[in-house]
Amino acid sequence: MLEIKCIGILTSGGDAPGMNAAIRAVTRTAIYNGFTVKAIMRGYKGLITGEIVPYVTQNVSNIIQQGGTILKTARSKEFTTAEGRQVAYETMQREGIDALVVIGGDGSLTGAKIFASEFNIPIVGLPGTIDNDLNGTDTTIGYDTALNTIMDAVDKIKDTASSHDRLFFIEVMGRNAGFLAINGAIATGAEAAIIPEIATEVDQLSELIESGFRKSKNSSIVLVAESEITGGAMGLAERVKKEYPQYDVRVTILGHIQRGGSPTASDRILASRMGEAAIDALLDGQRNVMIGVQNDELVYIPFNKAIKKGKPINRDLLNTVKILST
Ligand code: ATP
Repeated sequence: MLEIKCIGILTSGGDAPGMNAAIRAVTRTAIYNGFTVKAIMRGYKGLITGEIVPYVTQNVSNIIQQGGTILKTARSKEFTTAEGRQVAYETMQREGIDALVVIGGDGSLTGAKIFASEFNIPIVGLPGTIDNDLNGTDTTIGYDTALNTIMDAVDKIKDTASSHDRLFFIEVMGRNAGFLAINGAIATGAEAAIIPEIATEVDQLSELIESGFRKSKNSSIVLVAESEITGGAMGLAERVKKEYPQYDVRVTILGHIQRGGSPTASDRILASRMGEAAIDALLDGQRNVMIGVQNDELVYIPFNKAIKKGKPINRDLLNTVKILST
């Protein structure tokens, strides 16, 4: 088996709060175990262009509390081609990088899986995405911070909403996953969450309106997961205007505010533990696995399983939202 001396680290896809804590943990654990570390800037793009910086322990000082990623991130079209990945491999050889730690979402780990199988490179992934849409892990790095950002924003909207008689649709991120919407709804006491996981089975909007949900309320807040399947907050508002014109409807799209901010304690701790575990995995001879967390235990999840579409969501939570808002 290939002896690993130098580990490359990169962040890819959408950034997520806590990525810096993960970068710090990977770097420091690698150095602690006698490896050298090279930081690859701008995700797979930097692997193709050769934008690579040797990292020592000081490079990751004072970053644990910062949102975003000091390694920058990018979406690389070139890396989705065999030619692009060949250039990336040549960069690794030239730089003497023997193994990779990739921090990103399902696209990034899909790229990692393909790259690892083409060139027989040991790669360990960390789930870095606010969407919580990777399989085999209870939560992902950035999810808790995004949820807290949503909570703060919705609390503020509620202050103004309660002064009027209005129906507010607040769109949150999630990339076809409803975790942020459903748990955001519970955390803010919203009337409902409209999520893509069940959008093809039930008409959540008509169900909501016909349930007479606003019996004694001045204003109502509904969290909507961004998705073509739900129609997003705008799509639903259009429907209300046409089908239920008696309602005064307002839309807020929280947008990129959800990606920013200092990571919560939970995300910093999760990222730190997972970062350490990524190096332990390489020391264990593991490859092509994502580090996951299940019932507070760190686990290895094969890339294939991690990136499988349609992470199951706990549907009972919809009922919780409903009961608690009556
Ligand atoms: P997020 O979920 O936060 O958006 P992500 O990792 O899913 O993050 P993507 O843009 O889907 O973000 O993927 C990031 C990068 O991973 C892409 O720009 C591309 O370079 C690489 N990638 C994605 N899919 C593939 C693929 N099928 N083959 C090779 N590389 C891929």
